[in-house]
Amino acid sequence: AYEIRPRDWSSDVCSSDLNMADRLDPILPGSYLGILGGGQLGRMFTHAAQAMGYKVCVLDPDLNSPAGAVAEKHIQADYVDHAALKEVASICQAVSTEFENVPAQALDELEALGVYVAPTSSGVSVAQNRVAEKKFLATWKDEAGIGPAPHLVIEHDSDIAHVPDDLFPGILKTARMGYDGKGQVTVHTRDELSQAWEKFNRVICVLEKRMDLDFEVSALVVRGHDDQVVAYPVAENIHKSGILHTTTVPAPSISSAQEKKIVEAAKAIIRRLDYVGVLCVEFFVLKSGDIVANEIAPRPHNSGHYTQNACVTSQFEQQVRAMARIPLGSTELVQSTIMLNILGDEWLINGQQSEPLWNEILKEPKTKLHLYGKAEPRHGRKMGHINFVGATAKEVKLACENAVKVLRIAR
Ligand code: ADP
Ligand code: MG
Repeated sequence: AYEIRPRDWSSDVCSSDLNMADRLDPILPGSYLGILGGGQLGRMFTHAAQAMGYKVCVLDPDLNSPAGAVAEKHIQADYVDHAALKEVASICQAVSTEFENVPAQALDELEALGVYVAPTSSGVSVAQNRVAEKKFLATWKDEAGIGPAPHLVIEHDSDIAHVPDDLFPGILKTARMGYDGKGQVTVHTRDELSQAWEKFNRVICVLEKRMDLDFEVSALVVRGHDDQVVAYPVAENIHKSGILHTTTVPAPSISSAQEKKIVEAAKAIIRRLDYVGVLCVEFFVLKSGDIVANEIAPRPHNSGHYTQNACVTSQFEQQVRAMARIPLGSTELVQSTIMLNILGDEWLINGQQSEPLWNEILKEPKTKLHLYGKAEPRHGRKMGHINFVGATAKEVKLACENAVKVLRIAR
């Protein structure tokens, strides 16, 4: 396991104020960009970089990684392999990450080797640990205008006795390595909390009050090395069994006042993190109308895949632009859109494995299919997504509903 070193977020100095002077030259097409992680996010990053004339070097221990299959170079090694990091540093002008649990050590080592690293480990490490994340969100609540849900860190036996009654029912979440609803469980009583914590082998957790959600949204923001910050429209997300199911933009349920507040909060957060790159912040809009910040992803996000076909600039192109220190692109939404996630389940209907009816779905000409080139479909495994675009929210919704029927998605 790699230790992360959360920064002291109580300090009042925003380091972006300090760095503004050391502007750097742009990294131009033809150069190599490096990406740590070879999953689907790395693959879509690679496509975007190559479209602009960059070359890509992927570092991923997996021989069959989705990004490794399309990049000019794939270094197949562990993320903390010194020789591999040296090789990355010798080839690449800049490096970014496609997964949030990238060891801080790898980012730091690359930086020490003289490569431009964006985002840096201090920004990424906050999102790697729910304790640091909640602390960060709570510290800057006033500045962002939105804070985290009521919560308590569970680290020692005695913490359980001190949980205020009004945190129940709550959701116990492991501080590290949770994703797609994994590493979390709802607890109604102190006894259930004790049992759940035992089951998590008493690792450090956060107990969060279960909020009365009206709907869930995410805000995607991008910051350049020169402190330019751009934001995409707020996206509305539906999860099924803890996994993102659809993202709809424009967000149908949100008011313009709420949207403005959420975008401002996300911009404040990316600046406070002194973060260069693409960042996604998930928010809950409560039945009461109040908003809470849920979590931060230090990379392009599944809920931002719609940008590939509905916006002037995709989130992956922005990741390229930010790390290459070239100006960010327009985030303008050109069309109405819904993104539908495609899971391995779609291959595994009635206990048999068969290829979904892509041809049938593509009869609707405004349907954009994205598959990640993963060989083995498994239940709950993200295999691809479809972006439906159109002039109206209504036509997009109909196209999506039709595809859900054709693919026999039963979630
Ligand atoms: P993950 O890292 O798995 O995405 P999240 O903290 O985002 O973890 O939780 C996954 C989902 O669980 C959320 O999208 C939301 O639907 C639900 N959830 C999480 N925390 C709360 C909460 N405090 N109150 C109500 N629902 C919650
Ligand atoms: Mg989440």
